[in-house]
Amino acid sequence: MGKYSALVDVSKCTACRGCQIACKQWNELPGEKTVNRGTYQNPPDLSVTTFTLIRFKEIYDKGEVRWNFFKDQCRHCLEPPCKEAADMTVKGAITQDKNGAVVFTEKTRLLDIKEIREACPYDIPRQDSNTKLMDKCTFCADRIANGMIPACIKVCPTGTLTFGPRDKILGVANRRLKEVKKKFPLARLVDREEVSWIYLLHRPEAEFQMTVRAKGPVTVARRAFMRPLAALAAGTALLGSVAPDSDSSIE
Ligand code: SF4
Repeated sequence: MGKYSALVDVSKCTACRGCQIACKQWNELPGEKTVNRGTYQNPPDLSVTTFTLIRFKEIYDKGEVRWNFFKDQCRHCLEPPCKEAADMTVKGAITQDKNGAVVFTEKTRLLDIKEIREACPYDIPRQDSNTKLMDKCTFCADRIANGMIPACIKVCPTGTLTFGPRDKILGVANRRLKEVKKKFPLARLVDREEVSWIYLLHRPEAEFQMTVRAKGPVTVARRAFMRPLAALAAGTALLGSVAPDSDSSIE
């Protein structure tokens, strides 16, 4: 189990998209040329150069329009299904460090994107059509390894994002859930026991633009399905202006 976790308190997000920019700066990812599609969601989707994206959903409620915002990115599953799928064909293509970061390596170019994308309950992995490399959020593994918090969390001005040791984040998440439930009784923590990035949704899932292919203990169900396949496979073949400073240190 990873040492660190993050809480995404969706009820506090104002879609300023500072997290999107900080991610691009730290990871030195280029901007994407896009067109006006009548939404502030830009670019339209995650990609190998967009590791995190604020998704917008318009809801019509009692004659009023409401925008719900959702910061999409890799959840850094505690037992990542993408890694389990990768290990069946190219061991070491997807790795997990002791801090909880699930990282795609150069070897991902040898994997089948369809298989890896389908293995992910949140539809996160993307592939470069030229190099065939797959990529996604790294949990800023390089920053954490050097005692700093992830870039997106460092810049979030609204308190939507909180980072820290897993037990501390679970405590913050549980306390915050109790508070939010007073106003939004259906609020819940998504897959709390399964992921390092825990989302607090204050409204029903359908009111957000998000993908969750499996509910609850996804890894347990998936393992039951995948182990026979793994055995079969084994038998037949064998960064920028977010500068390091004292503010961003892990407490
Ligand atoms: Fe892998 Fe998807 Fe989990 Fe990220 S969210 S660790 S890509 S399975």
